[in-house]
Amino acid sequence: MDKNLVEIKSDDYFIVDMMYASLKNNMTGVAVYEEIGLGNRAFVHRDLWERLQQVIPYLKGHKLKLKIGDAYRPPLAHKRLKEIIPQPGFFAASPERSQHCRGTAVDVCLCDEQGVELEYPTKMDAFDANYAKEVQSGQTEGFLKYLPKAHHDYADAETPAIKNRQELKRLMESIGLSSINHEWWHYNLPEGNSDKYPLIEF
Ligand SMILES: [Zn+2]
Repeated sequence: MDKNLVEIKSDDYFIVDMMYASLKNNMTGVAVYEEIGLGNRAFVHRDLWERLQQVIPYLKGHKLKLKIGDAYRPPLAHKRLKEIIPQPGFFAASPERSQHCRGTAVDVCLCDEQGVELEYPTKMDAFDANYAKEVQSGQTEGFLKYLPKAHHDYADAETPAIKNRQELKRLMESIGLSSINHEWWHYNLPEGNSDKYPLIEF
């Protein structure tokens, strides 16, 4: 593995549960990370790991854990994911455009001590079993209508789900990570897309 990548292991603070390594919460319906030999393993660039460790005092204090649903994504895996769901709006057009392929992005949510995910407006990746089936068969209309729920600016009443999303954002920004509006679970290094962080081959 590339010398700049550090592995995040499940422990008292982190839960590694890579979405594309199993079929549980996987929009593509294919265990791509198993297929390519990565399996359920989470690697991130060491600069990202430095920041992520800074959430530990918060997790300790609130008796929470941080679930890692995606981290470093081998370019090969990205191409495969894009093949399975080619429609625009799902996966970046090329590995170059995905910070996951540079090791500078993670998809995360907070869980309680037992590892049960807190409530959010959607699951990570806006996963939903019915929409997943539709999307895999090429129908995206229903899912695209549902997707605004995954946005940071989606708000209805002050529900626990919205509060949890806002608290996660506050936490991740407090350690210097950036968010993107359309995926509440995605955080990356502010310069994660720059030449400082080239694509990492698997
Ligand atoms: Zn992401």
